Amino acid sequence: SICVNVIGAGLAGCEAAWAVAGAGINVRLYEMKPEKYSPAHKYGGFAELVCSNSLKAARLESAAGLLKYEMEMLGSLTVPCAKANSVEAGGALAVDREKFSDAVTEKIKNHPLIEVIGGEVTELPEGTTVIATGPLTQGAMADIIKELCGEGLSFYDAAAPIVTAESIDMEKAFYASRYDRGDADYVNCPMNKEEYLAFHEALIGAEKVQLKDFETHPFSVYEGCMPIEELASRGVDTMRFGPMKPVGIDDPRTGRRPYAVVQLRKENREGTLFNLVGFQTNLKFGEQKRVFSMIPGLENAEFMRYGVMHRNTFINSPELLNADFSMRERPGIYFAGQITGVEGYMESAASGLIAGIAVSRKIKGLEPLRLPTDTMTGALSHYISDPFNSGSFQPMGANMGILPDIGTRIRDKKERYGAYAERAVNSLRGELDRIGFENNS
Ligand code: FAD
Repeated sequence: SICVNVIGAGLAGCEAAWAVAGAGINVRLYEMKPEKYSPAHKYGGFAELVCSNSLKAARLESAAGLLKYEMEMLGSLTVPCAKANSVEAGGALAVDREKFSDAVTEKIKNHPLIEVIGGEVTELPEGTTVIATGPLTQGAMADIIKELCGEGLSFYDAAAPIVTAESIDMEKAFYASRYDRGDADYVNCPMNKEEYLAFHEALIGAEKVQLKDFETHPFSVYEGCMPIEELASRGVDTMRFGPMKPVGIDDPRTGRRPYAVVQLRKENREGTLFNLVGFQTNLKFGEQKRVFSMIPGLENAEFMRYGVMHRNTFINSPELLNADFSMRERPGIYFAGQITGVEGYMESAASGLIAGIAVSRKIKGLEPLRLPTDTMTGALSHYISDPFNSGSFQPMGANMGILPDIGTRIRDKKERYGAYAERAVNSLRGELDRIGFENNS
């Protein structure tokens, strides 16, 4: 009989295995722990949380809360296990990490259709396979993935902060492309000399994240991926000759070239998000908010992702994957988890769940689940599979900015997020009814 392979019993692999087995299909789940551990993993159980024990906000009117709610609608394994093993954490869902891992491990090991196979996978198994080996995938498995994905494999992220388009103050910023080339695709935030010097000063004094040895990004000036604070520390004018170069950009309000300029580029096709070009950074998140809010036009910017630079194996999904996490060129091969460029524990788990549902519906000849793009799960799958994002693809977590604009302007943030969440839940319910989805959890 048919058997689906899932490689890696992390957050994504466990969800994928659970979804496939829940649909009555045999699963072989491969996990190298406890025989071999990545530099971040320590515990023998499955679905190990390697750092924080928080799965972020619990309330539905938040991106993280909405994601978890949708996952439960889709039959998630990890969300109920987390709720059953939660610890007090204000408005967040935080867990006792060992009890959480034990709960997931027990569910998986007791499932009659899941066979757990120990040891490191060094060859791609025959048949339909979900690859969920995580952001620290190494060795033979990394070679297999390189073989499947060609050049589209990164071992580090170098992500710049992302802000929502609607939070940029366009009284101060303006649209323009350097030398008027292109369709004025960039939003430009101009600085005068005093503003630039104050910004430079704040940047070099800001506090950085302490990374572990294996996480440190081997940045190079030539790859153009040096952290902005590092560039700033090389000299007061270095940024003005690099990403903040004002050449070819005249401020339409003065008709003159500014002293320096921060450029923002569209992050998604819909243009709801913009990233700060060349501002990959290792500053602490609070410091990023403080210092980058000094940029004229970004005083009240809403940050949807902060910059990060660390060890993170991920594929160029927008060039390689469909929205159901299958490969365009090899439809029997699926990727799931952080390796697909989703960012975060629950985002990783969600992608495993979506891949698992897709695999099982395909095998059973059922109509595929098409996640609406105004749901958080749908927006994330759309983000990682939209060719528009393949240029300088960087990981993305759940955030309200990736959802399509709701049209009406709701000032109050809580109310606005509530409206987005309500739309998402109704939309997902509609799709689940349409395909007669059975929640197997
Ligand atoms: P993993 O959970 O890493 O699971 C992969 C599994 O595959 C592991 O069990 C591994 O042993 C197994 N495996 C790998 N290779 C093989 C092989 N060849 N054969 C067999 N088994 C194999 N996200 C957050 O939301 N909050 C955080 O605080 C956070 N901290 C992080 C800290 C670090 C150091 C890293 C690297 C990531 C962090 N993340 C965090 C990001 C992400 O959410 C986690 O990495 C998450 O665990 C990803 O889930 P996953 O299922 O994709 O991979």
